Amino acid sequence: MGQTLADLPLRDDLRDQEPYGAPQLDVAVRLNVNENPYPPSEAVVADIARSVAEAARGLNRYPDREALELRRALATYLGHGLTANNVWAANGSNEVMLQILQAFGGPGRVAMSFEPTYSMYPEYARDTNTTWLTVPRSDDFTIDPERAVREIVHHKPSVVFLASPNNPTGTSLPLEVIERICAVAPGMVVVDEAYAEFRREGTPSALTLLPSYPRLVVTRTMSKAFALAGGRLGYLAADPAVVDALRIVRLPYHLSAVSQAVALAALRHADELLARVDELRARRDQTVSWLRGLGLEAIDSDANFVLFGRFEDRHAVWKGLLDRGVLIRETGPDGWLRVSIGTFEEMTAFRAALREVLAL
Ligand code: PMP
Repeated sequence: MGQTLADLPLRDDLRDQEPYGAPQLDVAVRLNVNENPYPPSEAVVADIARSVAEAARGLNRYPDREALELRRALATYLGHGLTANNVWAANGSNEVMLQILQAFGGPGRVAMSFEPTYSMYPEYARDTNTTWLTVPRSDDFTIDPERAVREIVHHKPSVVFLASPNNPTGTSLPLEVIERICAVAPGMVVVDEAYAEFRREGTPSALTLLPSYPRLVVTRTMSKAFALAGGRLGYLAADPAVVDALRIVRLPYHLSAVSQAVALAALRHADELLARVDELRARRDQTVSWLRGLGLEAIDSDANFVLFGRFEDRHAVWKGLLDRGVLIRETGPDGWLRVSIGTFEEMTAFRAALREVLAL
């Protein structure tokens, strides 16, 4: 007893590592992890509860290992002529992407992305013993296709992660850039579209490229636009052979009967759950304009958050907001902060608190 982590035979590369995660603090206004601020309606809650009760009657049995009904429903939601054979689901897109590296990464292989980007990617790489390489984005947080092609040809990554819209910048990738990358990448190209439903008009999904690039994978999640972060349901669309590869590394029965039932119920209410996406997009664009009106920089966003700055001491601004009951995220390049788009009331509280902190 009384042992600490340091006493355990932990892998050398995990020593001194911290568990990933933003602070889960009990404050009034939480705008730090890009959640959807709207809880499901009572009608949706009732359908989820009924579905879980039904699933509960069979909990002595293992769930459908292939989650076929759910994959069929997700394929229907995505459209683009996709079927269940093109779709794979797991506990959050986090698990989907870990499985991608379990199948396609590993010792002696390289995974690559373009920074700043989602900070979990290097953790999937670490956990699967995949070498992690990053290439900087341009000053405006776009990806320079010439440079991307050069680096990919040079390093021959087994997996390239392209977040579009990107976290924490909100920047979408033009399809031409994705195509340039797919054309030279020797391995898998993963376009992480966790925030796809929040894109502005005229920024199409990489789903349209799937028929042309058999090694392209598009990941999605029900955590954001679907307002189902607590349900933990992520998925991908790809060629059926890619799904077969992931079925080799997945744990048997990785997706519980309860998770499958909850996701299926939520999908039956897709229209209602997605109904507030337009409102959030409009509020996001207003937030960008408002921040610029204060004389700050704010990056145009295709997601449900905005990266803004720059501050000499961003931690002081973050802390000042927290002291006023508003929790945002201290992430991204130094000097920048990220705010998720909440309800009208939450954004009003954010604005008031930020004005106070900046003495404006
Ligand atoms: N990709 C990106 C870019 C994200 O920002 C997030 C969540 N913050 C995820 C994937 C993972 O989401 P989940 O595991 O909830 O599907």
